Amino acid sequence: MTLLEAHGLTRHFDGLKAVDGVDFALRRGEIRAIIGPNGAGKSTFVGLLSGRITPSAGRIAFEGRDITGLPAHRRVRLGIAYTFQITNIYPALTALENVAIAAQSRLRPRLLRPGASEAEILKAAREALARVGLADRVQEPAGALAYGHQRLLEVAMGLALRPKLLILDEPTQGLSEAEIANFIALVRRVAEGATVLLIEHNMDVVMALASRITVLERGRLLAEGSPAEIVANAAVQSAYLGSPA
Ligand code: ADP
Ligand code: MG
Repeated sequence: MTLLEAHGLTRHFDGLKAVDGVDFALRRGEIRAIIGPNGAGKSTFVGLLSGRITPSAGRIAFEGRDITGLPAHRRVRLGIAYTFQITNIYPALTALENVAIAAQSRLRPRLLRPGASEAEILKAAREALARVGLADRVQEPAGALAYGHQRLLEVAMGLALRPKLLILDEPTQGLSEAEIANFIALVRRVAEGATVLLIEHNMDVVMALASRITVLERGRLLAEGSPAEIVANAAVQSAYLGSPA
């Protein structure tokens, strides 16, 4: 079943077509990797899906509903969570406080509706931290965490939103090999409850996790398929993976 669909998705920056007429569909429950050379438009593409960037043209539907004009915070409420390529935490606040702030944006009171109590928000935040393996770091200032733990903290901030779709932009960038192995196990656990869209440069991570791969090049869809199909794709090899050995 289709969770998210985009048609003709386009974003120009002045003359530059960062994303250029991309058709895209994501099935519920899949782990999709987006790969492509630097500057291919990957971050812009997921920025369009999350609502952080407005499209120049094209439409996006989530669970059959047109969300093209919805701002990012409304998409979060529908179940679309994302982490940035660049670390996006409040360093002076504790890990728990960072996640609680994220959880609050899902659980906070709305007009004419009772909101979650502070205790409920903290409970959701603790659960999300436990899921990424940071249960024993909740009271540490986020800025004092090791870099790898900061990236996990960001994933916890996404998970605290209990998303239907979790978008991760280069989550393993700067992680050690041990941290990457840990991250792969984490995404496998997380994926049991959510659909994951992952921008990733590390092909080991892509191969370990992705059920399908989408390849972007110069803002366009270059190829899409199973990991085996993508590795064997001649256009992908020359554009991205380098010429065959
Ligand atoms: P990727 O994530 O695949 O490396 P990006 O989506 O970040 O690629 O960028 C795609 C292209 O769009 C690049 O040429 C980049 O310089 C350009 N670009 C991205 N964001 C902006 C912006 N806010 N203003 C101008 N150009 C941008
Ligand atoms: Mg990027």
